[in-house]
Amino acid sequence: MKFTPEKYNIEDRPGIPFIDADEIEKMLGTAVSDRKVVGKIIEKSLSKQRLSLQDVAVLVNTTDPELIELIKEGAKTLKENVYGNRIVLFAPLYIGNFCSNNCKYCGFRASNPHAERRTLSHDEIVKNVEALEENGQKRLILVFGEHKNYSADYIAETVRTVYQVKKGNGEIRRVNINAAPMDLDGFKKVHEAGIGTYQIFQETYHPDTYRKYHQGGKKADYEYRLTSLDTAFEAGIDDVGIGALFGLYDWRYEVMGLVRHVNHLEACYNVGPHTISFPRLQNASDIDIDEDYLVSDEEFVRIIAILRLAVPYTGMILTAREPKEVRDEVLQFGCSQIDAGTKIELGAYAEEFNKAQNLDKEQFLIRDDRSLNEVIDELLDHGYLPSFCTACYRKGRTGQHFMEFSVPGFIKRYCTPNAILTLVEYLLDYAPVETRIKGWKVVHENIEKLNGFGRKDELLNRIEKIKQGERDIYF
Ligand code: SAM
Ligand code: SF4
Repeated sequence: MKFTPEKYNIEDRPGIPFIDADEIEKMLGTAVSDRKVVGKIIEKSLSKQRLSLQDVAVLVNTTDPELIELIKEGAKTLKENVYGNRIVLFAPLYIGNFCSNNCKYCGFRASNPHAERRTLSHDEIVKNVEALEENGQKRLILVFGEHKNYSADYIAETVRTVYQVKKGNGEIRRVNINAAPMDLDGFKKVHEAGIGTYQIFQETYHPDTYRKYHQGGKKADYEYRLTSLDTAFEAGIDDVGIGALFGLYDWRYEVMGLVRHVNHLEACYNVGPHTISFPRLQNASDIDIDEDYLVSDEEFVRIIAILRLAVPYTGMILTAREPKEVRDEVLQFGCSQIDAGTKIELGAYAEEFNKAQNLDKEQFLIRDDRSLNEVIDELLDHGYLPSFCTACYRKGRTGQHFMEFSVPGFIKRYCTPNAILTLVEYLLDYAPVETRIKGWKVVHENIEKLNGFGRKDELLNRIEKIKQGERDIYF
């Protein structure tokens, strides 16, 4: 479903760079935060109106601890009222770490002599996907370095391979990709292979900082990177993910950059990004970074709360780069997807796995190495509803988060029932007894919370079918 948002900037044109660093710095230099203004902005967001870039500048400029609490409370309320308690789970699968770029913060960069390079063979991909399926995963993001070995044809073929792997009741129902920008034909090829989201991060929206950190390879071109999602849209991909790597430049500027990117896509294509990612810089093999802009835990919470209020109908992804305690804390402020059971060493899902990370074999340090089931257990303990739902994508319901946000009853009609159905599958096929007991309790509580809305009988009927052995039923 498409929508017509307020047009932010009539200057926005498909494929034309849209970040004006001076404009952003000026807004940051002039936006004044006080109780009245912050209160109004939060109210605006809770009443489902778009925040302007100027509003976002006020939120990021807020330093008064009481007002910061208000912002966090606002984000929490928005998350609870609009999205409820579902958390969608996925896992990353690194396919290859050859790379011709030289991003100074990344262990895979071409100039790192310590990096142990590897590309999974067809057989290894199959074995890793089987291992992921045997754990209960249903949604993957495939990750690639930027290298001639990883052409659009190769990526498309890899996506098809992953979809074909079936182990027991297991299957991967949604394959997203994080890979270098492609040309129009390349994007068309991966689109045809049935990718879910095409995800790519600008890393930093600040041109000078971008140049400082990206000194080699195609990625050195800021504007090429910035407009790559325009090319994806032109190729027919309308499900994209954006992100900034927090820690390279002032987080306030990067939040503004992300929101400006959302505005650009909405203005040009009438649809915003499906997801926003906000990875924080982690240690990696032989990296070279300034530490001036590293983001503290407290600032990280603010980033998430502000983004939630600013772009209320965009999914927000929180990854295992963050330690468990941080993940537990920030989930309440608006994240809708997390990875779980994550291993980023190439091939590690199918091999004897050593929990101690060897950074020369990995892109960066991950700080949450819990298994999928451990994460599910804790989500259940904290009242969340773990979900592997892929229904909107497969039913062609695009603009999913926008519908969740704005179509009355959408979550009760589709999202919660589908989350429940996928959790039931997990409980029956993969969960140990203790998780199963907890899980069924959460299933029943969530059915009751539907308050008879919509299709409780049909939902119970479908749960019964799953118990009888049917799989992959969704609304
Ligand atoms: N080669 C592709 C690209 O650059 O777009 C794939 C990207 S990489 C495998 C996924 C993301 O990890 C990058 O876009 C970057 O934001 C992030 N990343 C790289 N180094 C990192 C580090 N040291 N700590 C945290 N995240 C990092
Ligand atoms: Fe290569 Fe991506 Fe790492 Fe840059 S971030 S060096 S492009 S893998």
